[in-house]
Amino acid sequence: MVRIFTDPDEAPNGILNLERFGPKPQTASEGGVVEVYTDGSCHGNGSTDAKCGSGIWYGEGDERNTSTRVGPPLPLTNNTGELIAILESIQQNESAQSINIASDSQYAIETLTKLSQTWLSKGLAGVKNPEIVSALMGEIMAANGRINLRKVKGHSGDHGNDAADILANAGANKPEPDSIDLTMGKAISALGAKINTLSQAQAYRLIMRHKTVGERTRTARMMIRTRAAVEASTDTDFPAEAIWSSLRQRKKGTLSQKFSVFAWKGLHEGHKAGLYWKHINPDRLICQPCNAPVEDLSHILTECRMSGQETIWALAQKAWELTGLPWPEISLEMILGIGKIVVKDDKGKVLDGRTRLLRIMISESAYLAWLDRCEWRIGREQNTLRAHTKKEITAQWRSIISRRLRIDWALTNKVAFGKKALRPAEVKRTWKGLTMANNFKALREDITVQGVLVGTGGTACQRRPPGRNR
Ligand SMILES: [Zn+2]
Repeated sequence: MVRIFTDPDEAPNGILNLERFGPKPQTASEGGVVEVYTDGSCHGNGSTDAKCGSGIWYGEGDERNTSTRVGPPLPLTNNTGELIAILESIQQNESAQSINIASDSQYAIETLTKLSQTWLSKGLAGVKNPEIVSALMGEIMAANGRINLRKVKGHSGDHGNDAADILANAGANKPEPDSIDLTMGKAISALGAKINTLSQAQAYRLIMRHKTVGERTRTARMMIRTRAAVEASTDTDFPAEAIWSSLRQRKKGTLSQKFSVFAWKGLHEGHKAGLYWKHINPDRLICQPCNAPVEDLSHILTECRMSGQETIWALAQKAWELTGLPWPEISLEMILGIGKIVVKDDKGKVLDGRTRLLRIMISESAYLAWLDRCEWRIGREQNTLRAHTKKEITAQWRSIISRRLRIDWALTNKVAFGKKALRPAEVKRTWKGLTMANNFKALREDITVQGVLVGTGGTACQRRPPGRNR
């Protein structure tokens, strides 16, 4: 299997063959093709107090954009920053069909193409940055899809490259180093001198075995928990790949783009919440009003007094009960795995409309709790007196669910959506029991009305102009 590609004029050999080009980059939403720009940054290159960072840029305002601070014992150099950025971009997309990486680092590209090829046959003795290089080789060999490496010119007005540069600088300026997962390098070292006697397929199998028994990464741990939650609900043990692609495909618009990114980040434990703050700012590690030692995603979505989750889940459950089906137990893991969770009737037959409704309810509700938590923490400066009121949360939730029903009907437009259009029958099966008896396009009044709606517009993170009365 050919695994890494670059422009043949740039580098005629590849880590593991290099005869073909990768496909032309497609848009990120299509078929699991991911496009990223990576960059490294280092102030005080090479010195012990140098500030070294990595940046990964997916797109404007994309929540997956990453800034990493690289710390000792790794050598603090520009090249380290460049390699770590590529390493993490592969780790973040381990199941993607292909990853198109644009880097301005001639060093990184040569390392991963020409030089790695030689090292694979001669061993890693004398190689610079051996921990990082071997971790990268391990990740590349274990990656699911193909990896396309593209050289861009640095500081030449390339928008993606400039944006990755800004992220790398932000990483270098973070107060504390991030933890970087180099465990795949240990798999390569474990193979040692044997590696040059192995066929690629043999090496790949050995690395994968090491990967499953070796030290788990944060992502792998969260994925195991999510798979277990999905299995408990569906009696099927889906592979990690199926969980990832359930977030990527977003069939029939069931899961919103925003929720997909949120869950993707949640599976990577990539949100700026909980343990993220452990070494940076212990005040932000805890949830003070709840007296919780760690304000992690699980706390925010299922326990916290400040995120509105209690009110939100009560509203969702009450609406769901109109279907006559039991409401599932809510956990972080089932939220992250919601794209694979199904609703069955008592004979075990999957109910597609109810499945779709549950996925909409759970994903929208969880995302609202996350937004309200962020708004309270940032927009309302963690002032407990300015917590979202029950009335406010209720209005937000109702407005979001009504909006989803309106979007569903809009998606039935065959002129606009062609083959991708929803069938009116599908929309009816999804919302049956929740809409008015004589008007499938409106939610039942007991779900929508009650109390005066505050003008939330559905996005909780929108700040109101200061000083204006609501
Ligand atoms: Zn809390």
